[in-house]
Amino acid sequence: MKELAEFLAWYDQQRSRPGSTVATLPNPKFCDSSGEELISFSTNNYLAISTSQRMKAAAIEGIERYGVGNCESRLLSGNLEIYADLERRLARSKRQAAAMLFPTGYLANVGTLSSLPRVALLARPVGFTPSSCSSYAYFSDAFNHISIKEGIRASGAARASYRHLDLNHLNTLLSRSTATNKIIVTDGVFSQDGDIAPIPDLLQLAERHDAYLYVDDAHGTGVLGSRGGGILEHFGVASDRIVCMGTLSKAYGSIGGFVTAETHIIEALRLTCPAYGFTSTLPPDQVFAVNAALDIVEDEPERRERLWENQRYLLSKMQELPYRVISCATPIVPLLIGNEARADQLATALRVRALHVDSIRFPAVPLGAARLRIQLNAKHTRRQIDHLVGALCEISQLQECCPLV
Ligand code: PMP
Repeated sequence: MKELAEFLAWYDQQRSRPGSTVATLPNPKFCDSSGEELISFSTNNYLAISTSQRMKAAAIEGIERYGVGNCESRLLSGNLEIYADLERRLARSKRQAAAMLFPTGYLANVGTLSSLPRVALLARPVGFTPSSCSSYAYFSDAFNHISIKEGIRASGAARASYRHLDLNHLNTLLSRSTATNKIIVTDGVFSQDGDIAPIPDLLQLAERHDAYLYVDDAHGTGVLGSRGGGILEHFGVASDRIVCMGTLSKAYGSIGGFVTAETHIIEALRLTCPAYGFTSTLPPDQVFAVNAALDIVEDEPERRERLWENQRYLLSKMQELPYRVISCATPIVPLLIGNEARADQLATALRVRALHVDSIRFPAVPLGAARLRIQLNAKHTRRQIDHLVGALCEISQLQECCPLV
């Protein structure tokens, strides 16, 4: 325990240093210390449905019918029909054959990616023998979400990281690999940068190298595509090579995660993925809430339209300000600040102006690439966005720390 004890003493010293680059816990979100309400520009609730009457009524109905928890896993007595119904609906929303639910999006990534290379291995004691020697390798975008990186690491398979969105680099790595099973992994929308992966080009590479393509659609689900189906709908792509992951905790306003793919992959994962079979299920009320969310996504397209109008409005206003906007592709609009202490200082200055914007810093992004990550939602008003823009303009002149990059 020597290193841990030394680290804890060091951390204690560092975090009280002015301008320190070590992270501290963020303040609670919606109220400042005087209890005053803040306008949040940092929530994943893109369609602003988590507090809607339809979602709340659905969750209450779920509680009335099933209680507050299911208290079992799917492989044992927890396999309620409502889960299978929701899975069918989620699979349809991604235009894929089958889906499986997980208690969170994080677990969906960790569970699926750690299990895929072991599915066949687990079948050996019950008689499966591969016709030839086989090996697995992951090829993962350097900016992928931490849950992807954790899942890949836990799989024990070979892994290579390609430079962010650099398809030439990916092609080189794929060409050099001798693995017999290759899996390309990418975020659909990159959570800290807000840019979008070129899925059709990635799919072409997957075809050329006989690889699977795993897409994390956490931030695209409900947001991208003409009907909110996510990144596959946005690009109009479909393929049995694609495994798509989504969360229920962002645009769908609830909690949970899911993976969609062709039927055999899902069936094999159900039996071999411990993060699915050896943990308790989503609480039934959340299943009811997500069904309501899917209804809302279908019959209230104005929420998605409003979200994108807000995104365009903010971007048009940002042109006049001295910030570097990292990307303009999605409702995630990150402003590159660079220095960690400067990013925190600006977030605090916004807070004083009744605005909550997260300062994102190492280890979520590389050291020296700290940012203010603005996320729009459907409920923001023009007045609130104007207030944010005015505040950003005012605080860009603050000189106490380092200048803006
Ligand atoms: N993938 C990405 C790209 C994410 O941004 C997140 C959440 N921040 C997750 C996965 C995990 O999803 P959840 O919060 O539903 O566990």
